[in-house]
Amino acid sequence: MKFNELGLSEKVLNAVETAGYDTPTPIQAQAIPYALEGRDVLGIAQTGTGKTAAFTLPMLTALERGRAKARMPRTLILEPTRELAAQVEEAFIKYGVNHKLNIALLIGGVSDGEQKTKIDRGADVVIATPGRLLDLTERGGLLLTGIEILVIDEADRMLDMGFIPDIERICKLVPFTRQTLFFSATMPPEITRLTEAFLHNPARVEV
Ligand code: AMP
Repeated sequence: MKFNELGLSEKVLNAVETAGYDTPTPIQAQAIPYALEGRDVLGIAQTGTGKTAAFTLPMLTALERGRAKARMPRTLILEPTRELAAQVEEAFIKYGVNHKLNIALLIGGVSDGEQKTKIDRGADVVIATPGRLLDLTERGGLLLTGIEILVIDEADRMLDMGFIPDIERICKLVPFTRQTLFFSATMPPEITRLTEAFLHNPARVEV
């Protein structure tokens, strides 16, 4: 399998080449075609398998189609920790070198003034930890009604950290018709229940 057989855009393929990647990893080869079809994906994969690119590359391709409504964000990625959220921002910058995207990193532990400014200016991509995201939807004027693709990453770590109620609230703030890409390293019963509630006919990929 080659990257150019997966259906990714030219801009994305060019960035992948610049990153020096030769072949897609198994999670990328399996998940990317489903994600590009618009299917919900349930990916069972650990960190280190290349799962960040498995969701970032098709999202970038999808963002080339259509445009934001009223400067609202079109894609939302939820991460359990600030560090993981910052790593995903790095990935969007690396793989999105050919895209003129506004990215907002909404994490706790820092003042929210700059984050509010980014939201007001219009962010295409929001990468967030659940608590700060909910703060900003409740008090910062952040609207999630334009979200086309939602990523829930490291779901089992979200569970360990007590974030499942927050995730459930966030899932109710995004449109019912969005696409959801869901990743977890393990599938405890609470996570299976969450996938049954919030994924529509997902393609299951496991590495
Ligand atoms: P991740 O599992 O997303 O944290 O990725 C782990 C590491 O693998 C990151 O440092 C990526 O830059 C790298 N990586 C992702 N996809 C590929 C690929 N297809 N070929 C080589 N390295 C990759």
